[in-house]
Amino acid sequence: MPTVHIPRDLVDFARIFHEAGHEAWFVGGSVRDNLLGRPASDFDVATSASPEQVVGLFRRVVPTGIKHGTVTVLWKGWSIETTTFRIEGGYSDGRHPDTVRFGASIEEDLERRDFTINAMAWDPLEARLCDPFGGRRDLGLRLVRAVGSASERFEEDGLRLLRALRFAAQLDFTVEATTLAAIREKRSRLTSVSPERIRDEISKILGSPRPSSALVLMENTGLLALVLPELAAARGVEQKGMHRFDVLDHLFLAVDAIQASLVLRLAALFHDIGKPETKAVGPDGIATFYRHEELSAAMAETIMRRLRFSNDVVDEVCHLVREHMFHYEDNWSDAAVRRFISRTGIASFDKLVALRIADGSAMTGVAVDPRTLDPLRSRVEAVIAAKEALSIRDLAINGNDLSDLGVPRGPVMGRMLSELLEAVIEDPSLNQGERLRDIAVRMKGKHGLG
Ligand code: ATP
Ligand code: MG
Repeated sequence: MPTVHIPRDLVDFARIFHEAGHEAWFVGGSVRDNLLGRPASDFDVATSASPEQVVGLFRRVVPTGIKHGTVTVLWKGWSIETTTFRIEGGYSDGRHPDTVRFGASIEEDLERRDFTINAMAWDPLEARLCDPFGGRRDLGLRLVRAVGSASERFEEDGLRLLRALRFAAQLDFTVEATTLAAIREKRSRLTSVSPERIRDEISKILGSPRPSSALVLMENTGLLALVLPELAAARGVEQKGMHRFDVLDHLFLAVDAIQASLVLRLAALFHDIGKPETKAVGPDGIATFYRHEELSAAMAETIMRRLRFSNDVVDEVCHLVREHMFHYEDNWSDAAVRRFISRTGIASFDKLVALRIADGSAMTGVAVDPRTLDPLRSRVEAVIAAKEALSIRDLAINGNDLSDLGVPRGPVMGRMLSELLEAVIEDPSLNQGERLRDIAVRMKGKHGLG
């Protein structure tokens, strides 16, 4: 008999239900992950008790989705989503069940769940596994298989299309053939899913060990063309030089090659997305992608806004995409190193290096040594240690000083400060109040301030 390990406090939680004459089963992800020997991320409970009865049993309860029978119980530091057994009827909008009926059995409750591996329940007091759809068999076969008729399950709720591919990527499973065929058949159901829910699934796909496995399935089933048509357009766009892959395979490989942080994975996914549109073939037959990094950043922004990613994520990803085209050589002057780090920012350095290395690996399919950019790192560290000016804040002159010299506040003052910074980055010895004032006085003429 299989055993699902449930933390002692959570067994006590289930006992409260039993003592009140109700059933309480751990369901979904915790049972699945436990049987796979993976750490469970959260513990969800299904119970025969009505939502009102659950509220009556515990002191601290949040009515998260009481209409659908779900309350969150705060218990010994855990927060446990507790849902009354329910049967769902009809899904005319492809998102929400038209009716929810309570009072069913655990078997009926499992029937409404998406995949067999998610449709198992464990009763920790009786040590019983309820597995009416062969979830354990499919764990053994490493298969994501819909419960019942795959087409019907996807017709009901379009989010399940992406969830199937997400679980396959997270668990390194295969999508069972009938289920996969139904994803292709029902792909248009994805259009009724909210962008936020699509964003969450894509984020989980990007957090998996090898996101390309799900991205390739998204492409083959037509989901990619629906949610990320800009990426689908990169298929077959051939490149040049060191590149061995078309733009889309290159992006997929870059995603796999970079660490699993959301910002890095998004930056890798979008870093060349402007290439299809900027591609031009010269008279010599060689392709160019002039300033593709700028278009890529603009397109990445449009896509991420559409999917409701947070402003912080959008800003950081776009910055990395825009700056990903640096090519360090040992013959860079010190000023070139300062210009680079002043433009890109110290805080982005590690991420930009990670993107550069993943990009390089994804050109040839052969991993680039992560120490390749260590020489640049040493030189950047030296610049930081020397406390050389890298931003306008670091200048030995400020807006007040310029104002005293008769420069009005506004865009001209901003431009002058930028130019003074450029001069100091070129020659750090200029960063003294008097010298900068002299330069500023000379600059005034050029800026129309006689
Ligand atoms: P994880 O929390 O690791 O993402 P999970 O399996 O716990 O995975 P949740 O989204 O937390 O996934 O949902 C808990 C359970 O609820 C699932 O295991 C599944 O049984 C059921 N479930 C969730 N979403 C759906 C859905 N869209 N359609 C059908 N069943 C669902
Ligand atoms: Mg869960």
